[in-house]
Amino acid sequence: MNNEIQEKLEKLALKKSIPFCIGCYREAPTKICPSCGSDDLARFVRAEGMGWGTDWIIRSIVESELTPVNVDAAFENSVRSCYEENVSVLWMTLDAVTVAKEMDPISWDIAKSEWLSQEEGEGIITTFDNGASYFWCHELEKLLDAE
Ligand SMILES: [Zn+2]
Repeated sequence: MNNEIQEKLEKLALKKSIPFCIGCYREAPTKICPSCGSDDLARFVRAEGMGWGTDWIIRSIVESELTPVNVDAAFENSVRSCYEENVSVLWMTLDAVTVAKEMDPISWDIAKSEWLSQEEGEGIITTFDNGASYFWCHELEKLLDAE
């Protein structure tokens, strides 16, 4: 993910949360706890909870606002756009993608994960949970522009 998106997401996460003193269990909107004077503060989001840093807030914003990439469908579309649609086998004309998937599912999966890391490297998709789900960067940008 490019740094600009990351920075904007962090800003948004800060905007949507309040500094919180865990020791005193209270909000500290001025960034210094009114009770103990600490500036070592966590973040609090109403109806969500609290935690350190902004990663968890970013994840929750993205997950509630955007639909994850349907990786199988997106990879299939990408393959279809690069190769002939049909293959001839004997007297039959068959759908190339279906043939590839059925004949060699392992190769298909390897190609899919290579495609995923390539897309991620090019900043087309990104993940906030180490690859359990992916989001389109253009949708992220749209979300950030709307904020
Ligand atoms: Zn405090």
